[in-house]
Amino acid sequence: MASPLHGKTLAVIGDPIEHSLSPVIQQAMLDALGLDCTYGRIRVPAGTVRDWLPGAASLGLGGFNATMPHKTDLVPLMDELSADARMYRSVNTVVLRDGRLLGFNTDGEGFLRSLHDSGIDPHGRRVVIFGAGGASRSVVLKLAAVGVERITVCCRTPDKAAELVAASPSVRAADMSRASTDAALADADLFINGTPLGMQGVGVDFESFTFLDALPASAPVCDLIYRPLKTSLLREAEARGHLAVNGLGMLIHQAILALEHFAAMELDAETMKAAVMTRLLPVLEQTS
Ligand code: NAP
Repeated sequence: MASPLHGKTLAVIGDPIEHSLSPVIQQAMLDALGLDCTYGRIRVPAGTVRDWLPGAASLGLGGFNATMPHKTDLVPLMDELSADARMYRSVNTVVLRDGRLLGFNTDGEGFLRSLHDSGIDPHGRRVVIFGAGGASRSVVLKLAAVGVERITVCCRTPDKAAELVAASPSVRAADMSRASTDAALADADLFINGTPLGMQGVGVDFESFTFLDALPASAPVCDLIYRPLKTSLLREAEARGHLAVNGLGMLIHQAILALEHFAAMELDAETMKAAVMTRLLPVLEQTS
């Protein structure tokens, strides 16, 4: 059967879009699969995705990934939504097929697979996550859906956490005061940073890492950040004996899952990861 991508192109849309790693990751996989398809980037300014969408098929697109600021705006514009996209109210992958727009979100499942790669089973865990933005949202809702015992969202904007608490009985909210994070971390067996603190280019990092002292040493520490590959948080966590997991696995797995939707085929994750790493690591090392 011919690939649905035959003669089509793929792209990532967003604004800004210059720094997106999706073209490197997706083209590496397309080339490894021998699919005659190119993957580009398209700048679509905030608030204009509704107007841009009707012309997407005439660009020869078989699908596209979406990043800031379009993930939420795309939700009501889809003909069909996957269960995860509906749950997060966010779309990161759109397949154009037979004149229809099929919306998916692969972020939460990508994170789960990265945990699995690191030998971490989230089932029954007591999780603490810092931040309640877009990435945290998909991670929190996915972890709640797969049966963590509870997940405490520590953040500085209570409304964002309240929305997550309302979505699942296993989600709790806390502020980011030291007393609150100490109490939550003391009883946790998995910690995730979902804030951009420590991300390259942001220019802000945690002021101190002594909050980690409250976390049992057996609890893995995950940072959703992948630039740099090893944040100060992960260094500090390793120094305290924690298993440290960066955001690269999530980034690659969400991309593999997206390509499975575009190409309508199951992919061998190990082969895809190897193809991606060959092209991605030099880019990340150059910019880290
Ligand atoms: P976002 O929607 O802007 O959310 C950021 C969250 O961090 C918000 O809750 C924000 O709080 C909080 N925050 C920001 N600065 C803070 C500070 N100084 N102190 C305390 N909280 C702070 O961003 P996002 O899209 O979720 O991305 C978050 C991180 O995840 C980024 O580093 C990004 O690179 C990473 N990420 C990784 C992947 C992957 O595949 N590995 C995918 C997506 C994102 P307020 O709401 O109060 O501002």
